[in-house]
Amino acid sequence: MDKTKAVENLDKVISKVEAARLRVSEHHIVKIIGISKYSTSEDVATLYSAGQRAFGENKVQDLKQKSIDLEELPLEWHFVGRLQKNKINNLIDLNPTLMQSLDSFELAQELDKKLEAKNKKMSCLLQINSAKEDSKTGVMPEEAIEVYKKILEECPNIKLKGVMSIGAHVDDRNIIKDSFMTTKNIFDELKIYGAKYCSMGMSSDFELAIACGSNMIRVGSTLFK
Ligand SMILES: *Cc1c(COP(=O)(O)O)cnc(C)c1O
Repeated sequence: MDKTKAVENLDKVISKVEAARLRVSEHHIVKIIGISKYSTSEDVATLYSAGQRAFGENKVQDLKQKSIDLEELPLEWHFVGRLQKNKINNLIDLNPTLMQSLDSFELAQELDKKLEAKNKKMSCLLQINSAKEDSKTGVMPEEAIEVYKKILEECPNIKLKGVMSIGAHVDDRNIIKDSFMTTKNIFDELKIYGAKYCSMGMSSDFELAIACGSNMIRVGSTLFK
């Protein structure tokens, strides 16, 4: 990907985000995370030069490699994948800006224990399986609020900052919208407990996600094509 292409891709996403967020409110600010999992460190550097600062990976090993390759750039790194227990320490050592895929209370306990041992904290989002799909991880919507509160109470090294969801994997926009609204309603209930981010929307559905209240989108393929 050359610089011209990166600028063009980023401009297109920014224009669409801008229009979508203004339809919600002038005060509705949306953060864009570039998901670089199918791309090279070189492409990340090119997008950085076009103005993008926040990136995300779904494998600890890839996050490590890219953050080493690009350590001189002031990037922020997000983790958005399934975290295996044997990779927890590796992730902690990488100091991610935001771990978006905390998908069970058990994982939270495990992560909290390892953070405690290293005397560290980690900012996380609780992943909600709002479409109730077997292929996805995350807590079920009915238990999300209870689990969120339990993590706040019992895992002092985890700084919960909100929720994350992947939209329903279907063509029907109404079903995708329902899945986003499920997460948005939970997010609204969690605001009194300090929830700040409602991370939803990917390349194919970020405008719909923003209309449903998302304030953080994760876009891969449209940025890095
Ligand atoms: C890959 C991925 C994305 C980005 O997907 P695109 O469709 O390429 O925009 C967003 N969120 C998560 C959790 C992902 O794994």
